[in-house]
Amino acid sequence: MTALIKELEDIVGKDGVLASKEERICYSYDAQLSEAMPDVVVIPENAGQISKIMKLANRRKVKVVPRGSGTGLSGGSVPVNGGILLLLRKLDKIITIDRENLMGVAESGVVTARFCEAAGKVGLMYPPYPSSYKTSMLGGNIASNAGGVMGLKYGVTGDYVMGMEVVLPTGEIIKTGANTVKSVSGYDLTGLLVGSEGTLCIVTEATLKLVPKPEFTQSLLVVFNDIESAAKSVSEIISAGIIPSALEIMDNATINAIEDFKKIGMPKTADAVLLIEADGIKEAVEKDAARISDICEKLNAESIKTAKTVSESKELWEARTSALPALARIKPTTMLEDVTVPRGRVPEMITYIQQIAKKYDIMIGTFGHIGDGNLHPTILTDKRDREEMERVEKAIEEIFKTAIELGGTVSGEHGVGLTKSRFLKMEKGKEGIEVMRAIKNALDPNNILNPGKIFGWV
Ligand SMILES: Cc1cc2nc3c(=O)[nH]c(=O)nc-3n(C[C@H](O)[C@H](O)[C@H](O)COP(=O)(O)OP(=O)(O)OC[C@H]3O[C@@H](n4cnc5c(N)ncnc54)[C@H](O)[C@@H]3O)c2cc1C
Repeated sequence: MTALIKELEDIVGKDGVLASKEERICYSYDAQLSEAMPDVVVIPENAGQISKIMKLANRRKVKVVPRGSGTGLSGGSVPVNGGILLLLRKLDKIITIDRENLMGVAESGVVTARFCEAAGKVGLMYPPYPSSYKTSMLGGNIASNAGGVMGLKYGVTGDYVMGMEVVLPTGEIIKTGANTVKSVSGYDLTGLLVGSEGTLCIVTEATLKLVPKPEFTQSLLVVFNDIESAAKSVSEIISAGIIPSALEIMDNATINAIEDFKKIGMPKTADAVLLIEADGIKEAVEKDAARISDICEKLNAESIKTAKTVSESKELWEARTSALPALARIKPTTMLEDVTVPRGRVPEMITYIQQIAKKYDIMIGTFGHIGDGNLHPTILTDKRDREEMERVEKAIEEIFKTAIELGGTVSGEHGVGLTKSRFLKMEKGKEGIEVMRAIKNALDPNNILNPGKIFGWV
């Protein structure tokens, strides 16, 4: 280890290598609280240094795990095999925000909110930011193909990545994509590498599409006394040809957790609320908001509140972004899942989740991007209680099986990482996984970069 540390210090300098136990502990877990200690933490400043680190790691057969801010929820950045934890926070330059070409170029360690603000200053918007955007980094978003509350209308991170600079597992630096609206020259390597969860490359820089900021937005909080009606309203809104910029659901357990945490007047007796935002030209938005209200009223909405001011609207959205931290206060262990089903099957999925919670006698709060069919059933438990954990594991398996039976997927946005690798076969089949393994073997013949993730093998 001493010899490895010396070689790493020669590449990044003494300040860029953290080897004490106290420092390593800080990078031994992610937001899902999966845990494993790295042997050493290395903080490079540029792609050239990362290239040298990867060549060294291949020579010495040491594993490398890339890490942005560690807000991931599937154990993706956790170094299960020890080795080098590659912390990308020093790649923090926004290189350009280009209004004329509606794009921005930034290094992968830029915090997502900083990039959104930079775009906002010139009247542009970066829509696919996740709810963790105040902390997460662009590289982490790209590696996990993050989605956010605006996915329904604007799509996910992958829809905004025009091109990248990446370091391959064997140390070569390549550029993918192009800084043009169209490019079909060769294989779509950008498409392959986005969402590869730090197993196929280290993203160092990205060219990201931006869109003009809408002139007007309107937020609505719709309260329902039964969650099925809330889910049906979503299908009706979209069938009516209305595409809100955000369409989120929170169930009774989530509403109560948020209210206890934030005290902002959330309706504690409601079975569910929908938080909806429309954006665009003022007249069109007001018309859409009125039509949405009509649909929800017809489906027995208890009340509809329209945010009158920007600060009222901000408060509503802060309620949504605090859903996970609010639920996490209730019990010592929080297990947030990430199933997605075709939108039309959401009411059934919600009913199944409730039945599964009852069957296994466990506490589940559900919230999520219902407009995308993406639900986050969040299990509140205590991992020290072995008997309850056995029931929790059975419940999780049943939730995933049900999502697949309904035509869905085991991960809408958080990635497979460590925690969902055992369910991947259920969705992709043996042959599908073999194709992915062949790609991994071709790009990473020594299995150096983030092994143990996605496929579960080390
Ligand atoms: C409160 C909260 C809310 C959240 N809301 C959302 C949400 O709305 N939508 C959503 O999609 N997710 C959400 N997440 C999950 C998480 O924030 C996202 O997945 C985010 O994109 C991770 O970014 P990060 O920088 O923290 O990456 P990390 O957690 O550090 O890493 C995530 C994965 O990416 C890899 N990685 C990181 N940087 C790089 C790089 N430069 N090159 C290659 N691989 C890399 C890691 O190895 C790991 O596999 C939420 C998490 C929390 C805690």
